[in-house]
Amino acid sequence: MNTHWQKKSQEEIKKIVFSALDHNVNYQEQPILGVPATYLDEKVFSQDESFLKEAPFLTALIKNPNHIGCHTLDGSENFFSGTQEIERKLIEICAVDILKGETGAQDGYVASGGTEANIQALWIYRNYYQQEFNANLNEITILCSEDSHYSMHKASNLLCIDILSVPVDEETRALNEDTVLQYINNAKAKGKKYFLGVVNMMTTMFGSVDDIDIYVRALQAAKVEFKLHVDGAYGGFYYPFSNQENPLNFKNPMVTSVTLDAHKMVQAPYGTGVFLIRKGFMKYANTKEASYVEGEDYTLIGSRSGANAIAIWMILSKNGPFGWFEKIFILQKRAQWLCTKLDELGFSYFRFPTSNIITIKSEYINEQCAKRFGLVPDNHHAPKWYKVVIMDHVSIEKLTLLLDELKKHTLA
Ligand SMILES: *Cc1c(COP(=O)(O)O)cnc(C)c1O
Repeated sequence: MNTHWQKKSQEEIKKIVFSALDHNVNYQEQPILGVPATYLDEKVFSQDESFLKEAPFLTALIKNPNHIGCHTLDGSENFFSGTQEIERKLIEICAVDILKGETGAQDGYVASGGTEANIQALWIYRNYYQQEFNANLNEITILCSEDSHYSMHKASNLLCIDILSVPVDEETRALNEDTVLQYINNAKAKGKKYFLGVVNMMTTMFGSVDDIDIYVRALQAAKVEFKLHVDGAYGGFYYPFSNQENPLNFKNPMVTSVTLDAHKMVQAPYGTGVFLIRKGFMKYANTKEASYVEGEDYTLIGSRSGANAIAIWMILSKNGPFGWFEKIFILQKRAQWLCTKLDELGFSYFRFPTSNIITIKSEYINEQCAKRFGLVPDNHHAPKWYKVVIMDHVSIEKLTLLLDELKKHTLA
């Protein structure tokens, strides 16, 4: 099954990264006179070979490749073709091995984060409906849930299109098909014809996963044009492993694009969002005026560090697919452990079964406790919920401290 994603040793990883950097432009040895780019400032960042020879990621930072543009399309800046190849491999790992697409059937790039990747998707679909259907801005709308990330509202504002934010059930955080259909029909009555649907693969606050078929059935019943984007910024590197048989991937013809964030569950540096979309759609985000960039620019961001793509590729390659399953398995076990303890205490909380977020009703948690344990509220002004996120560092020992504190409150 895993055709692109193979576990590699540190030695192999080092060799591949150093060799890729060697295939990029060499500012010291070649006469490169026309680009506003070079290595990091050597007065501040040591370029000592003996220090860097065991550190491929630091070397990538120092050599500072610019991955401007989208490298799964034809033609890219040839100055950095060595490390662009690593980004292409990374995109295949994400699109094919994690999200069940066919090899070579998706485009993608490493975005600044989930926010950019989500906006990129909605930007593409807005332009698609404008160019292919002659749509007016006021005929296009984003369709998502009230638990969707706020980046949808940024996109609505930036792209000058409306947003429909459908309420979810307070307890189960699930969409209701009748409510979704009602929202769509209301919007249709007000002239909306083109729907940019966003399906959550784990929401930021609750870890809940939307039932994509609810959107599909409602949109088809309303007989409107639509495209579906999966927001896996939180869950993209988690849910496909905690629930292998799920419909939020490229095997599902209803899914056109997906956002993943490596700077959440993957422990990659910030600046590692991943945007993936079926071939044929990137062109709607082309900026032809980017004529000084070889291959032009199909992304929102412009210049971006190639070291980010290398970091994600290194982490995934070091763990390998089976290592990744084990990592998620352990986080799932800890989440189950916490839920069992909360059940024993009789606390009410929300946990989507295949998620590592446990969201506890605020009545059980006072402000000091939330502060001490860094629990994040749904709303800083009027918290109704506080969440525990089971990350690598969130050990059973640390969870025990939280439970001891919670017990004190219930006994008091
Ligand atoms: C975090 C998150 C985002 C935004 O990601 P950034 O990397 O912070 O821009 C979008 N959607 C969901 C579901 C998220 O959890």
